[in-house]
Amino acid sequence: MFMNLFKKRPAAPLPEISLYNTEHSKLEPFIPLSRKAVTIYSCGPTVYDFAHIGNLRAYVFSDILKRTLLIHDYEVKHTINLTDFGHLSDDADSGEDKMMKGLKREGLPVTLAAMRQLSDIYIDAFYEDMDSLRVMTPTTWSRASDYIEAQIRLIETLDEKGYTYETSDGVYFDIQKYPAYGRLGNIDLEQIKSGARVEVNTEKHHPADFAVWKKGLLGWDSRWGKGFPGWHIECSAMAMATLGKEIDIHTGGIDHIHTHHNAEIAQSECATGKQFVHYWMHSAFITIDSTKISKSLGNTITLRHLVDRGFTGDDYRYWLLTAHYRQTVNFSWDALTAAKQALYRLKRFVYEDYKQSASKPDEAYVAKFKKILANDLDTPGAIALMWEVTKDDTLDNKTKCATLHYFDSVLEVGLSDNLEDGKKTLGILGEDEVPEDIQALVDKREAARVARNWTEADLLREALNLKGYTVEDGPQGPKISKV
Ligand code: AMP
Ligand code: ZN
Repeated sequence: MFMNLFKKRPAAPLPEISLYNTEHSKLEPFIPLSRKAVTIYSCGPTVYDFAHIGNLRAYVFSDILKRTLLIHDYEVKHTINLTDFGHLSDDADSGEDKMMKGLKREGLPVTLAAMRQLSDIYIDAFYEDMDSLRVMTPTTWSRASDYIEAQIRLIETLDEKGYTYETSDGVYFDIQKYPAYGRLGNIDLEQIKSGARVEVNTEKHHPADFAVWKKGLLGWDSRWGKGFPGWHIECSAMAMATLGKEIDIHTGGIDHIHTHHNAEIAQSECATGKQFVHYWMHSAFITIDSTKISKSLGNTITLRHLVDRGFTGDDYRYWLLTAHYRQTVNFSWDALTAAKQALYRLKRFVYEDYKQSASKPDEAYVAKFKKILANDLDTPGAIALMWEVTKDDTLDNKTKCATLHYFDSVLEVGLSDNLEDGKKTLGILGEDEVPEDIQALVDKREAARVARNWTEADLLREALNLKGYTVEDGPQGPKISKV
């Protein structure tokens, strides 16, 4: 009799979201582990230097993923890690340690305290980048050196279960004990073995075995002596510590697929016996002149470089979103300039023409927008839809504005600031803000225009541009902006 009373109501159908899962190399419907919060772990930066514009794509991508889930009524728990020790410049266990490199560069001693000091500086710089790109603060920023105990415990578990072996320089994960090794990107272990360079470390059982602990004079105490955890273990340990043993989505750049993420899977699944991650998502690379971004090639560009040249985080974010996250894109100043101009026009619509927002966005456009993003985060499609809204004569300006505000809750390119701040970003000057000499040039140009003396008017426009101002002719007279 009570059965009916307590009969569960059928759960609301899940929104249809398709995500490209690297593990199966195809688009898959997203089915979360639980109806509470979707859990996302994103491999974060190594904080030994400023992030370059390529690195930043990884976080704009995970931000779009998160915001897409939010508008589809999911709650999201998101962790981004900060690698603040021991990441070798090579994904495998060779190459220079990036943090050591940073210490050397800044003339700091090789101590844990100095490493903390160095990473403090670049963590702050990274947070500034995240703010100017309007990336939402994750639920947890997990800093690797704050999770040493969890990492050591995880290595101990693997050790106790017989998945690791000790050598003179560390503790290694024995991939041959885990037959499923290399699921991501279909790694051919035999090929790795036969194609391996002469192994520097002859104590390794297989060239793809990776260090979970590195012995050394610097670091923390463990049952294997002093040292520090290998790079891959930190992500497994922090993902589990902050999100649980099984998580919905793990993101990172494509360079992480083969070694780092296969290592994470092996360690985590051998330790817990559970499927670590259900959707692996990877963003493609940004190139410059079709070449990899790299310090050694001297082509590293940071967000600070863009700002020095007059661009904003919004401009860069807009440019990034004009390409799909799985597409490799080539950065060029011309392309960024075109993005800046397009975004400026959108901002002009919102802050100059529409000015005010209706209480509700247009429902049909909202539905279209959600559907576009639900298709593996199709941001180029979402941007095209923004332009469609501006051109749609069936909508009044207030509704256009509200609809663009709604779109901006995911795209976040600076279209939903308050009117005063938004106007400021346009650089449009009020009458009393225009310096006298500039106003004099504008007046002279206006007189030339009225007299249809176009050559003179053009010359005066150029003179204004050289002084850092632009002038645009509108029905209410010339509009002056500071570039
Ligand atoms: P790292 O600080 O080297 O660990 O890299 C931080 C993030 O940036 C990782 O997710 C990398 O996959 C990603 N990444 C590195 N270089 C590029 C690039 N040129 N374009 C896009 N993403 C990159
Ligand atoms: Zn990672």
